[in-house]
Amino acid sequence: MNPQVVLKPRKARPFFGRHPWVLDSAVDRIEGDAADGDVVDLVSDKGKFIARGILNTRSRIRVRLYTWRGDETLDEAFWRRRLTAALELRRALGYLDPQGAARLVFSEGDNLSGLIVDRYADYLVVQVSAAAMAARLPLLLSMLGELVQPRGILVRSDPAVRNAEGLQIDEGFAWGEGPDGPVIVTDGGVRYQVDLVQGQKTGLYLDQRENRRAAARYFRDRTVLDVFCYTGGFSLTASALGKAARVLGIDSSRRAIALAQRNAALNGVAHVEFETAEAFEALETRLYAGQTFGGVVLDPPKFAGSRRGLTEALRAYHWLNRLAVELLEPGGILVTCSCSGHVSREDFLAMLLGVAQQTGRDLHVLEQRGAAPDHPVMVTCPESDYLKCIICRVI
Ligand code: SAH
Repeated sequence: MNPQVVLKPRKARPFFGRHPWVLDSAVDRIEGDAADGDVVDLVSDKGKFIARGILNTRSRIRVRLYTWRGDETLDEAFWRRRLTAALELRRALGYLDPQGAARLVFSEGDNLSGLIVDRYADYLVVQVSAAAMAARLPLLLSMLGELVQPRGILVRSDPAVRNAEGLQIDEGFAWGEGPDGPVIVTDGGVRYQVDLVQGQKTGLYLDQRENRRAAARYFRDRTVLDVFCYTGGFSLTASALGKAARVLGIDSSRRAIALAQRNAALNGVAHVEFETAEAFEALETRLYAGQTFGGVVLDPPKFAGSRRGLTEALRAYHWLNRLAVELLEPGGILVTCSCSGHVSREDFLAMLLGVAQQTGRDLHVLEQRGAAPDHPVMVTCPESDYLKCIICRVI
């Protein structure tokens, strides 16, 4: 029998409801010998089995849950089934183009809390954010090697997450071999050089792939400002696919802008420029100079890191979106995103309502979008619905 994690009275509901994160505040005690990374059974204060998961006493998420079936063991065959199911989805989506990029495993979205696997052509980048996955990394890497047959697998981990979870992870190419230079992938008809080792996240923001295309449809013959452009995703798609007249991409990271410029050359696009600048300043400067645009894309980093930061984050979103709306000519297109899991869709739309009221402009919502379907939202884990992308016409 597995060691048991016993919940405090009246704390069991979310877990009968299949939420996968058991916070330390819900746990009463652990019965039996369990080390971090070990399989444990979650039981109610009355001793009733709820779910099976993996312990990490160093994290606020004390247990991550992986199955609600009492007869399912978390053995090698289990992890293989979960990985195979995740890969089947991407195959069904048509996301396995050998030159392309896709998220093959999305943590809670694939019932594999704490594991992210992204594919960039012949290479995989694995991001580990839980002791459960760190303890099983060699097994997972060898399964991925066998199932996907990449040339190499790179392991990365976010230092902030590593600290919060108390993980020790050796970063670097842990399976196969690394590429000689940057990896080139094609997505939506656009080619990107990707820096797997130094790039943000795992190299690209794959969650925005469908949104870049959706946005591009509105940009024909327009002058577009792409704020927080990173290596040029929305800019290049607007130009190559959307036939935008001119595009200016802005990002505060010099490294990202240098790569965006290389990507522009790689795609042979004309009238696309990139500039290193702080976003709020760049928007204000242009507004005071009386410039206008036919389209503005806002794809900022996460403003709310926790629920406590929500009010402040909404204020920042408000100010940012207000500047963008004021820069838009009548009939202009606003593509506005938020990747803060703590900001709900309702909050985000309410923020836009405030912007419409304060600027006196009409905002017509044309599309309410989320992350691409290789980032499935697990309905029992609302936090996995983190990306909001709203496309509006601003009169
Ligand atoms: N739109 C991009 C992804 C953006 S991620 C794409 O499609 O690939 C968020 C970006 O915001 C990062 O590249 C980061 O460097 C940039 N950033 C963070 N703070 C910023 C600031 N204050 N001003 C400008 N850019 C900023």
